[in-house]
Amino acid sequence: MNSKSVKPRITRHPDGISAVDAEYVHPGHAAVHIIRHDGRGAFVDTGTNYSVPYLLAALEELGIARDAVDYVFLTHVHMDHAGGAGSLIQQLPNARVLVHPRGLPHMVDPSKVVAASQAVYGEEEFRRLYGDVLPVAPERIVSVPDGFRCELAGREFELIHTPGHALHHCAVVDLDLRIQSWNRAAERLFGFTATEAVGNPIDIIVAPDRRAEVREILDRKLQEEWRLRRTPATKEQ
Ligand SMILES: [Zn+2]
Repeated sequence: MNSKSVKPRITRHPDGISAVDAEYVHPGHAAVHIIRHDGRGAFVDTGTNYSVPYLLAALEELGIARDAVDYVFLTHVHMDHAGGAGSLIQQLPNARVLVHPRGLPHMVDPSKVVAASQAVYGEEEFRRLYGDVLPVAPERIVSVPDGFRCELAGREFELIHTPGHALHHCAVVDLDLRIQSWNRAAERLFGFTATEAVGNPIDIIVAPDRRAEVREILDRKLQEEWRLRRTPATKEQ
């Protein structure tokens, strides 16, 4: 399947953020996000090998050249989120895969996660869901510890370690304090759909009379962390 023959399902959010249906299991089940800023692009997750043609078609539709993609952020290395990283990165000549240090070895040599997944699904079902999982070449991948910062055409992002769903799970924070992702639990808790929430300032989920206070706490916390991480004696975890 090549990217010319597929029609990606794209949901456009504010601030250059788009969700692309990963076409995993059934439509609406999983999404890959693309951030576009000043003509440069970044992926958050990749879906599976079978998602890749849709992602390349989405790039084209969003007007981002393949060589203008700088990053492929991986939230974690489970096959439904990162199984397509090895094949996607081959199509993006200037991009680097960014992943937590605990996840990195599994992207360079996916044999262990593939075997663990095959033990759950069986070989045939695994192939149907994920295809041939390709390794990411070591020179195309960067190990990113908690607090790692990078910029996409001047827009700054921070990777924070959020263990839970997976021990090496990371979240991508846009440092303008805007909401980057949304799930069903958040929808139930706050009453906004993903379309209404993503790309908006986090103020929308804070009671109006607490907004100034919350904003001040977050600004202070970011500044403190920034200072701590800039101290040479601070060791990376
Ligand atoms: Zn997972």
